[in-house]
Amino acid sequence: MTAVNLDLAELIRELEARGYKTFGPRIRDGAIVHDRIESADDLPVGWTDEQAGGHYRLVARNDPARFGYAVGPQSWKELLHPARSKVWEMRRDADGAVQVEMTTHETVKRAFVGVRPCELAAISRQDHVLLDGRHPDPAYAANRADVMLIAVNCGDPAATCFCTSMGTGPAARAGYDVLITELVDGHEARYLAEPGSDAGEEFLDALTTEPATEQDRSAARDVIEAAAERITKRLETDGVRDVLFDRLDSPRWEAIGERCLTCGNCTLVCPTCFCTDLVDVGDLSGTTTERWRLWDTCFSLEFSHLGPGPHRASPAARYRQWMTHKLAGWLDQFGESGCVGCGRCITWCPVGIDITDEAAAFREEVMA
Ligand code: SF4
Ligand code: SF4
Repeated sequence: MTAVNLDLAELIRELEARGYKTFGPRIRDGAIVHDRIESADDLPVGWTDEQAGGHYRLVARNDPARFGYAVGPQSWKELLHPARSKVWEMRRDADGAVQVEMTTHETVKRAFVGVRPCELAAISRQDHVLLDGRHPDPAYAANRADVMLIAVNCGDPAATCFCTSMGTGPAARAGYDVLITELVDGHEARYLAEPGSDAGEEFLDALTTEPATEQDRSAARDVIEAAAERITKRLETDGVRDVLFDRLDSPRWEAIGERCLTCGNCTLVCPTCFCTDLVDVGDLSGTTTERWRLWDTCFSLEFSHLGPGPHRASPAARYRQWMTHKLAGWLDQFGESGCVGCGRCITWCPVGIDITDEAAAFREEVMA
């Protein structure tokens, strides 16, 4: 099947009619977040996001684009690898007998609409970590099992984006069921779609569509080219692993550590960070205990608590752990970068620490 023009409202109606719980971008608390959507009216029509180091604002557009923004603070990991999930519950009854109830993981049929190309890459990274190893994560496996991915090529990158450096955008190459390009022409927004899987093809076949013209395809290429040209932030990936491992003792880590608040925002917003902690919570009567899995961050002191205490006691050591894992250690572990260039860690760092600037500075040290 080749590209077609489709009616976005019908696409969402059809997803819901087929029993998919549909999630997509919508505005909440002054940001574009991923939430339940039931119609195209729920999408952030006429809004874009303005992003810079430590800066995020919604700004009104003068057109009806529904996907005219870059990425919000949330990534899809909120739905696939949630921040908080119960592992088990233990109860002691009046006779003193103890019962343990493990959490069962049910697959819910879901559709994610508006997945950005960098986010497809991030989902693929998390698949490799949480599904493809010797011990797949059962919660992630259940959450991931029946998800239709409706991707949307990026037409409005932010100043913090650097997907072109990481080879993940602004156009999607793989990993989607349906790929949409939004064509905004004055006061009209149109949607060009192509399938990326058998499920996506069957789904598009069920919609009322019109074949795309050569003009439509050319307009879609223009959207991608214009987006790529607007992405000026760069991260030089060639040899970055060796650069960082060469500079493990650089005084620059201390300089970054003096700025870093160790708030952990960069790990929470990062779509590939996957670390978790286990926390047991008992009730005051002593009859019930629950074990919860929570997102963890390598910026917390407890994260590296071994034996007598944390072995990454300084902010510098914790930032070095995070950055070298993303850009260097991840390559050794998984054969790919742990960074997809979404720019969230730059936007949501309260002091504007920029991973691309720091990578460039370490490279300069090596060159010097
Ligand atoms: S390290 Fe930063 S830019 Fe890279 S994927 Fe994570 S949040 Fe995005
Ligand atoms: S680098 Fe920025 S976002 Fe990350 S922990 Fe430090 S201050 Fe927080």
